[in-house]
Amino acid sequence: MARKLFALNWKMNPERLADAEALFTATKRISHITTGVGFVVCPPTIFLSALRKKYDGNVLLGAQDVYPETKGAHTGSISPYMLSSLNVKYVIVGHSERRSDGETDYVVATKVNAVLDARMSPILCVGEAARDDAGNHFAMLEAQLRASLKGVSKAKAKQLVIAYEPLWAIGKTYKQSINAHTLQETVLFIRKILTKIFGRAAGMSVPVLYGGSVEKENAGDLLRNGSVSGFLIGHASLDPDHLRALVRALVRAL
Ligand code: PEP
Repeated sequence: MARKLFALNWKMNPERLADAEALFTATKRISHITTGVGFVVCPPTIFLSALRKKYDGNVLLGAQDVYPETKGAHTGSISPYMLSSLNVKYVIVGHSERRSDGETDYVVATKVNAVLDARMSPILCVGEAARDDAGNHFAMLEAQLRASLKGVSKAKAKQLVIAYEPLWAIGKTYKQSINAHTLQETVLFIRKILTKIFGRAAGMSVPVLYGGSVEKENAGDLLRNGSVSGFLIGHASLDPDHLRALVRALVRAL
């Protein structure tokens, strides 16, 4: 079975570098529970440089966003090459919290392409705000995927990761998260679209993660029955005790 991928999105947490270092050390320890999972920690960008010194290759580093230019007059921005020079391997792109600040599919696509050009893997977030009985969310998902992947060649598709993150499930508890059946149906739909865009071999090789209130209580079921390649985990990644229990639940489900 292919190795699962867990990307941990710390968002704007923790407040202090010392706490970020302690959380990174605890996460590295937890990562040794299983070799069946590859871990990627995505801390606030300002902590990347210090965490890189604690990096041992077991837990990889990711970024939460990027500016899609290589250098120049872009005050406050961080380029893809700045990130890759810090050993960053993955970059979250198009998270709903950035899209809600006005980031369009066009901007998301320029970021995806910039990350690929810098030889890192974008974790492209897509997801509907709401579902309806008519299934309109599928058309919305297809449009968002196509627009966010504009300009990506078939050859570069193998560097891609997709994270399906329905907005209605983010930042809640496992009780309000997606169920495994709905997740499986949606992941199969995303794979169908990826296959239409990149062809069968390339489309099927793209890992599709799920994010949105993955907790220790639902992680095993979603992994076993949701057809996912792994998870993008938010709040549960900030508490080492919760993360440890979540990883143990996943190991039982692998
Ligand atoms: C996220 O926002 O990427 C996320 C997965 O958050 P949470 O796990 O807290 O829902």
